[in-house]
Amino acid sequence: MRKFCEHCLKEVNCTYGERQKELEYLNQKVKFLEKYYICNNCENEFYDDLYDYNIKAGNNELRKLSGTITIDEIKEITQKYNIGKKPLSLVLGLGEITITRYLDGQNPTKENSELLKNILNNPLLYEIYLEANKYKITKIAYKKSLGKTKQIEMNEDKSKIYNIALYLINKAKEIDSLSLQKILYFSLGFFSIFYKRKLANVEAESWKYGPVYKDVYECFSYYEYKKIDYNELLTNKELYLTKEEKSYLDTMLEFFGCYSGSILREMTHLTDPWLNTRTGLKEDESSNRIITIKDMDTYFEKIYKEYNMKSIKDIKKYSDDLFKEAQRNLFNRKNK
Ligand SMILES: [Zn+2]
Repeated sequence: MRKFCEHCLKEVNCTYGERQKELEYLNQKVKFLEKYYICNNCENEFYDDLYDYNIKAGNNELRKLSGTITIDEIKEITQKYNIGKKPLSLVLGLGEITITRYLDGQNPTKENSELLKNILNNPLLYEIYLEANKYKITKIAYKKSLGKTKQIEMNEDKSKIYNIALYLINKAKEIDSLSLQKILYFSLGFFSIFYKRKLANVEAESWKYGPVYKDVYECFSYYEYKKIDYNELLTNKELYLTKEEKSYLDTMLEFFGCYSGSILREMTHLTDPWLNTRTGLKEDESSNRIITIKDMDTYFEKIYKEYNMKSIKDIKKYSDDLFKEAQRNLFNRKNK
């Protein structure tokens, strides 16, 4: 191995070594793994390119001792919330390169150290900062970070709707955010009628692109029109779903998962719960009005009776009819 020996003042052949090194801080001792070289020429020790590593490693242990946030913990924040150094600085209302400097070894102020520690342990607090300062970072950086943060929160809460979404994404393999929202809508709607209980106790908002479960939307919106990649998502080993629920969702995927997002959007536009909340709005007008559970139950109960449904397999006739009508509407609109 050839490195620059500071004693010989030239590149020399040398041997690499590691040892426990002790540091003292306010009468307390900490150890870290020191790395060094021994010069084959003069037999002295030197550091050359290991100098930065040793400073950081020692400093990191001293920080732990004093209760200051460590470099590793700051790195953990950027990974946990899927955010770069610069955007993180901006989101937290710090100078643009503050986090970069901390990662390079500069000690944070006590105040910033406390803030960073709180942020690391509290996704909800992070989300508040992210929302407040989102205009300071790019839209895609915001969506990516919000998505990861929402996934953490919903995973920690064992959120039912999140687990349903995960199941559908994994099972469908190729699904985008728009299709997912519409399949959730039909799944939640019919489940209550067939099983006399809620699949998940959440209400959709009535967006111009159809019904949207906002928390779920925020989890995956950074994929935009791309397929959601299950392997990138934050998941538990086990999903909080019963066998019955899983098998029901399989059937819903069979009847609704075969259509594109734009056809599914058109299909939801034909259903009463969405139409009722759109009263007085123009076709392309944004809205976050709530689609009530009552409206959902009334509509899906009506369909259940109209189609004389006996089992969930009978939903197929409805999805076929809805598809045909949606297709006609799309065709007519294009040819107007
Ligand atoms: Zn030497």
